[in-house]
Amino acid sequence: MNKLEQLYEGKAKKVFATDDPNLCIVSYKDDATAFNGQKKGTILGKGAINNRLTNYFMKLLEEKGIPTHFVEELNDTDAVVKKVQIVPLEVIIRNISAGSFAQRFGVEEGIVFEQPTIEFSYKCDELNDPLMNAYHAIALKLATPEEIDTIKKYAFAVNEALKEFWKSVGVTLVDFKLEFGRLPDGTIILADEISPDTARLWDSKTGEKLDKDRFRRDLGGVEDAYKEVLRRVLGQ
Ligand code: ADP
Ligand code: UDP
Repeated sequence: MNKLEQLYEGKAKKVFATDDPNLCIVSYKDDATAFNGQKKGTILGKGAINNRLTNYFMKLLEEKGIPTHFVEELNDTDAVVKKVQIVPLEVIIRNISAGSFAQRFGVEEGIVFEQPTIEFSYKCDELNDPLMNAYHAIALKLATPEEIDTIKKYAFAVNEALKEFWKSVGVTLVDFKLEFGRLPDGTIILADEISPDTARLWDSKTGEKLDKDRFRRDLGGVEDAYKEVLRRVLGQ
């Protein structure tokens, strides 16, 4: 499978066309951004770690019956995925209060919810990814009511599968962001990535942060945290 022209360069990944119109290659970068691109940096080795972690989780989720875009790992930083039309929603699931939830509602981080929450943000950098509810997304024709139902069902199923997995390796899954896309026939599948860039992961014993908050909040030890996550998941 060869990389043809670059279709898109985002903050953390590049997307390339391939000779198959239904497939593309995603290439994970070491670039890190936070606060909608205002803070920029590099996390050495991040691209390779996020590629391997995402591919691992996409396979695990497929086994649990959740359809994903994953096709094949090409090398350290690149994977072949099914090309989708991205639904422009960031789908955020939370098990524990943190980040923008704690700020918005004026509560401390670390409140364990009895049930997970779901929220949507409109994926639009110019508007700073504003929070929106399902009715807004439907009104703006970003997704149909049926698609929203499917997305919610898959997002909660992803949470159950990942929570259980992370627990087994001594990590608490606090929150995470998912993106979904449509195949040419309209089928909704899970796309994008699942990594310490897009999830909050706390060591179950010590509470130590093992995710991008180390970069966002200048906590130091960023590379080591990503390596530790890879070690917990893949034993290396
Ligand atoms: P951003 O666009 O937020 O800066 P990235 O750097 O991660 O994010 O760029 C990757 C882009 O590829 C994102 O816009 C994401 O929505 C998109 N994408 C992810 N998976 C697929 C896929 N299977 N097909 C097409 N586009 C995808
Ligand atoms: N997240 C993400 N991309 C975004 C916004 C959030 O991957 O553009 C992830 C983030 O890493 C965290 C979860 O979604 O795991 C919830 O993020 P939150 O709303 O608390 O926002 P933040 O604190 O990142 O501003």
